[in-house]
Amino acid sequence: MKVLVAAPIHDKALELLKNKGFEVIYREYPSEEELIELIRDVDAVIVRSKPMVTRRVIEAATKLKVIGRAGVGLDNIDLEAAKEKGIAVLNAPSAPTISVAELTIGLMLALLRKIAFADRKLREGVWAKKQCLGTELRGKTLGVIGMGRIGTEVARIAYHGFKMKIIYYDVRRCPIEIEKELNAKCVDLDTLLREADIVTIHVPLLPQTRHLINEEKLKLMKKTSILVNTARGGVVDTEALIKALKEGWIAGAALDVFEEEPLPPNHPLTQLDNVVLTPHIGANTIEAQERAGIEIVNKIIDYLSKEVNN
Ligand code: NAD
Repeated sequence: MKVLVAAPIHDKALELLKNKGFEVIYREYPSEEELIELIRDVDAVIVRSKPMVTRRVIEAATKLKVIGRAGVGLDNIDLEAAKEKGIAVLNAPSAPTISVAELTIGLMLALLRKIAFADRKLREGVWAKKQCLGTELRGKTLGVIGMGRIGTEVARIAYHGFKMKIIYYDVRRCPIEIEKELNAKCVDLDTLLREADIVTIHVPLLPQTRHLINEEKLKLMKKTSILVNTARGGVVDTEALIKALKEGWIAGAALDVFEEEPLPPNHPLTQLDNVVLTPHIGANTIEAQERAGIEIVNKIIDYLSKEVNN
């Protein structure tokens, strides 16, 4: 059987496929046209947050049985088109959790202690000590939007490591043991935005979450508060955020994800000092990539062997 690996995955995962006798075709991030050609003849395809597996791509496939996402978000895959053709879509949802949670905390510190700003200034030859008056995390209120795997892990580090107060908003109440462990209070979104010193976003991008944080919601936040987004860029209205940052409705933002990726050069966000930006590196660790690659390859091997035996 043939597996198209259309994004970089860990070497151990590639080895696993080859050792199980699969023919592996490797092409890093093909364009839609290239993918349409490559997909015609394969049984499985593995992607990460790229490339896009569009309806056109899925309709061009003749043997495809399964699409594997080495990671969590499935927004680059046309799930409806896959369902219509009876193609399974699998992911590795827990692989990046720790990595994204640790980056989220890192971004909070980078922004509140002005680490990225200080580093930029120092390289320009400026000893910006006076401009780098920061704030601590200890005792502050963390507002977690989306208390799933990543949100919970961020709250754990914040509560146990920094003694922060945890409030969260989610469509589902999180398990009572977690609420007890973290002394976490479930609140509505507006209350969270009004009370939190740090708002951190961990909901998936869905029609209901697109621009969940818009002008009206940003205006509810404290002027001293910051917004951290390591989920998906589309959850925040970028135009409104830029306005909020320029006009001082909030103190700053730390973003790993953007409505348009890669973020275009000279984008207005890059001109602001109260912003820390990273290029979608949440899951970019050796550990997360190894876990994601191995988890998805094992799931695909399992799925295809069951198909053969049926
Ligand atoms: P998860 O499914 O465990 O948690 C998401 C939570 O959001 C759930 O508790 C769910 O109930 C809640 N939710 C869903 N819709 C909601 C709504 N409309 N309003 C309020 N809450 C809602 O997912 P996770 O593993 O914690 O990942 C969260 C997101 O992080 C992913 O969807 C992905 O987009 C993003 N992510 C980013 C990176 C990165 O590189 N920066 C890496 C991995 C995941």
